[in-house]
Amino acid sequence: MCGVIGFYSPSRDGLDDIVTGLFQMQHRGQDACGIVMSDGERLRLHRSLGYVREVFHGRPAVEFAGRMGIGHVRYPTQGGNRPENTQPHLDARPDGPSLALCSNGDVVNYWALRQSLEARGVAFEGTNDGELMLRLVATWHIEDGLPIVDALRRLQVEVKGAYSACLLTVDRLYAFRDPWGVRPMSFGQCEGDWQVASETVALDINRMELVDEVQPGEIIVFSETGPQRLPHPDVVAARDGRATPAHCVFEHVYFSRPDALVYGRYAYDVRKRIGAWLARHDPIAADLVVPVPDSSNAVALGYAQASGLPYELGLVRNHYIGRTFIRPEQSRRDDGVKMKFNPVRHLFEGRRVILVDDSIVRGTTSRKLVRMIRGAGAREVHLRVGSPVTANPCFYGIDTPTRAELIGAHKSVEDIREYLTADTLRYVSVEGLKECVGDRGDFCMACFDGKYPIALTEDKRWEVGEGTPVATLAGA
Ligand code: AMP
Repeated sequence: MCGVIGFYSPSRDGLDDIVTGLFQMQHRGQDACGIVMSDGERLRLHRSLGYVREVFHGRPAVEFAGRMGIGHVRYPTQGGNRPENTQPHLDARPDGPSLALCSNGDVVNYWALRQSLEARGVAFEGTNDGELMLRLVATWHIEDGLPIVDALRRLQVEVKGAYSACLLTVDRLYAFRDPWGVRPMSFGQCEGDWQVASETVALDINRMELVDEVQPGEIIVFSETGPQRLPHPDVVAARDGRATPAHCVFEHVYFSRPDALVYGRYAYDVRKRIGAWLARHDPIAADLVVPVPDSSNAVALGYAQASGLPYELGLVRNHYIGRTFIRPEQSRRDDGVKMKFNPVRHLFEGRRVILVDDSIVRGTTSRKLVRMIRGAGAREVHLRVGSPVTANPCFYGIDTPTRAELIGAHKSVEDIREYLTADTLRYVSVEGLKECVGDRGDFCMACFDGKYPIALTEDKRWEVGEGTPVATLAGA
């Protein structure tokens, strides 16, 4: 998962807004970040592994300024956590136009497209899908002479997967989204300045007035004549016949901040509805409702309000550890849970607790937390999960482990409960989640229902138990 931002102004330097916007979207990617600025003549790149506040703690250089720029925070799904996979990617040629690109999402047919470019002699520095998209546009635009918008349209045909992306030239900013609209992206304006961002929270902080989402399949060109919106001429065909978009529901479950307006709904409201749904569908005698902070706060609040039970912030989170999930080895992840959460012990003594988490992936977090709460004296621990059973990996940009590591892919709910040592365990159903999110057939729920809206390549089909084994070209 990642966050992207784009800035266009007729008159004002954009670096501060880009850094501020990235900082607001730090939760979308904590491994690396980068910015490309255009001063009207050249594109300059500054990127590195690390947090926004580390990489951009001061202005990188006086000349790193401009009225246009794009920025990215990275949480790797495609391509390892290495400097060359850090976005944005820049194609700067002394004798030709310069292009820079950054994207949020994941490309399904990465290797086939890469091989087709390599056959034309195109070199790659890393294994990141943002770089692939840049090299495709650069090849078609600079070498084949296709206008940029046409190159982006071609990209929307050939690149299968999720991408909410920004492309920068020396004098223009382009924002575009895959035809399915898997990942969010919105844009806003203030006094003639324009910004595009993965999450509306970045626009809020920069005092931008929200204009709209970049629509699925749409390309928006920001230039001195103002924004030019280019809706996709046949978005249904571009989605291989699917009538509706396929927005990632996990943005509402976990990824986006609760104050973000995601696909026209506030994540905060959706999460409260999920909590209320859980309370209504499985009333249970208990003394208090406790969220696993922060992603479950609103879910637990919805539960408490619907059930009339007291809401207590019984787990306190250390905000400086980063996401425990990101840590590579299981042992470090286990330590991470204790490093991250500590119980307010006296709240639990002899009490029956409803513990609310947004999702269970491997089961590591919940198992530790159930034990922690029992250790603090709880008499009963009832776990409620603000999403259906995560049974399938995501290939569109959420960092889920392989099927083998997903506890929900192999165990029944009762076996999971036993493993987690909870007294009871309930998930929201797929239908329940659809109701809470206001689904009109416009969501991707593949991680829960296994229905992948964008055709998978053979190696990925094999990963989800279909198709035939294919030698993967990993190395990422
Ligand atoms: P696990 O401990 O593997 O079961 O992971 C579940 C916990 O990780 C929950 O508390 C979620 O809030 C969080 N989580 C779920 N999905 C992700 C993700 N893709 N990236 C980071 N954290 C996640």
